[in-house]
Formats: sequence, structure tokens, C-alpha cells
Amino acid sequence: MDISSASTPPVMVENKLSSLSLTDDNSPPTPETITLDSSGDVIFLVGGKTPHHQKSQLLLASSKILSLASPVFAAMFRHGFQEGKTLSSRSMDPIPLPDDNPDAIILLFKVLHFRSRDVPWDPDLGTLAHLAVVCDKYDCVEAVAAWSRVWLMGNGGTGSVRGKVEDVVMVLYVSYGLDVPSAFSEASLVLIKDHSRSFELNPELPGSDITAELIPEHLAEDIQRAREGLYSKLDEAIATGIEPLIEMGGLWCVRTRIGSYFTTLSNHNLWPPSALRKTSVQEALKRARAIIEPERGAMPSSVQPIKAALGEALAKTVGGARGMCLDCVKTGGESAREGKCRITHEESKEKGT
Ligand SMILES: [Zn+2]
Repeated sequence: MDISSASTPPVMVENKLSSLSLTDDNSPPTPETITLDSSGDVIFLVGGKTPHHQKSQLLLASSKILSLASPVFAAMFRHGFQEGKTLSSRSMDPIPLPDDNPDAIILLFKVLHFRSRDVPWDPDLGTLAHLAVVCDKYDCVEAVAAWSRVWLMGNGGTGSVRGKVEDVVMVLYVSYGLDVPSAFSEASLVLIKDHSRSFELNPELPGSDITAELIPEHLAEDIQRAREGLYSKLDEAIATGIEPLIEMGGLWCVRTRIGSYFTTLSNHNLWPPSALRKTSVQEALKRARAIIEPERGAMPSSVQPIKAALGEALAKTVGGARGMCLDCVKTGGESAREGKCRITHEESKEKGT
């Protein structure tokens, strides 16, 4: 964990911030101050570095609170005291956090200082992604756990995102970083079922040019594999569909029926398998249902016999789709063997999930 950016020993504040003398003739105006603890004893300086955050801000905070929430901050402050700085120090040097996203740090500090009224109910995904990175860096995921659940599991909140693949990936990223199993499971299921294209698991974070690798890269392959598993079930369902057509007998008629069957599937982009994989599993299921339960007009007589078989196979495909277990992902399956997963899943019934 890199705390080099904050290597300046924390200098404690004895009096009011008005005594800050950060400005001289050449320096920019005194940054705005956010008071998180009016009797705070430590000042941080955020922003002012990138084009995205040109404005600097000072945060007056409590070293005690930050130490309780984060072992990294605790170590930072211990280091500061060892250097001979004490609460009675009159120096006013703020601790710069130049590498951290200011919005994420401000949000984090508000949460940690119980500024609940100032904490937004629905921060944008970009800020939450930066918050996940910051919480990972300062090892304080647990301290924000209650808020993480509010943000990711609220009604119509971020957890129920059904948008572009990039947005869903961002929910996956945030729920992994902030450790919210239900939102992670939901987002992974959306990626498996509702999308067909590949994606980058550790995206470039909004408003910056950094990529922080929170999620192990193999997870993208796991999701791809789970998606392929559902496509295979669809392939199987389609193959099963020809059985009743054969059982109806009559060589010539069988050929005609099977030909018509695959033509119908092909017209709905469900055949051949390569065409099927260009659409999401969810969309493929919708198209398959449209064949067996046409909204208007009669079902082609050649397709009628496969209705039951295909319908049953499709139902199995839907039933088999599950999101991923965050605990299993993080422990390599150990949590399931020990019965410690925070979401229920039928690990014992299906292999390799
Ligand atoms: Zn599990």
C-alpha cells in the first residue's frame, strides 16, 4: 500500500484554520476548507493537480476517527508522532493527498466523520469507483460498509443497472471494491445474460486517466465461460427440438420438417451457433419464445411439434443462470466449502460455478 504521497508527517492543528498561512504573493488563493470535525487535529489537502480537479480543498479532520477506520491512516499518524510532532505543534502544513481522487476522499471522510446529512444517497458510479480505489488503498472498506450497501442495493439504485456494458462493468467493479456480494452477483448475472460482447474488467476511471486493478483479470474469463455455458444450453435446447420432428416419422417429411425448423431458427438469428453468440442470451431467449409463443399469426405447422421440447429446454436454461458469488471469487471457492458465503448459491448442485 503506497502512502508515500502522504509522507509529510501529520501536523496537528491547535487553533482555528483561519490561522493557516498557505498563501504568499505567488501562490493561488487559499483553498476552500471543509470542516469534518470542528475540533479536528489534522488537515489534508486534496485536488489542484489534474485538469479534472483544479480547485484545491482543505479537509479538517480527526486523526482519531481516521485511525479507527483505517490502519493505513493509523500508521501514517503514528509515523508523524514518532517524528516528534505532537498535538501541541503549531505548524500548519496540510498533508497532501495528490494521488487520490478528491471527490472520493471527501465522500470517504464525510462518511467516516458521521456527516450523514452531507452524504449523497446516489453518488454517480464514477465517484463510487474512485471511492472503491481509495478504500482499497487505505484499507477501510469495512468502515463504509453500511453506506456501500445503501448505494449499491437501493431501489432503482446503482445495483439495478441495466444499461450499457460499461455501466454494468462499473457496478461490478464498485461492488467488488466495496465488497457488496448481492450487487456483485446481480451485476455479474447481467454481464452473463444481457450482453454478448467482451469487456475490460478494470476500466479507466471516469474523469481521470488512471486504471486501478481491483478485480483479478481471470474474472472476465469466468464470466465469459458462464455466458458460454448458457449459449451451450441453448444449442442443446435447439438440438433437442428436432427429436419430436424425427419421431413423427416418414423420411421425406422428417427432412422437410427439420429443414423448416432450422430455417425458422436461422430467421430469428438462433442458428447457426455462431449467429446465436452475436446476441445476448437474454435476447436469444426472447426470440426463441417468440417462435414458440407467436404474438400473432399461427405457428408454422413444422415448428409446432418442437414447442414442448424447446420450451422445456429453454426453461432449464433460464433456471440455470445465476450470478457469481463474491466470496467464492475472492477466496477461490474456499468460502463455499466452509459454508461462509454471504449469498446463497447451489454450489453443490452444479460444478465449476
Ligand atoms: Zn460462494
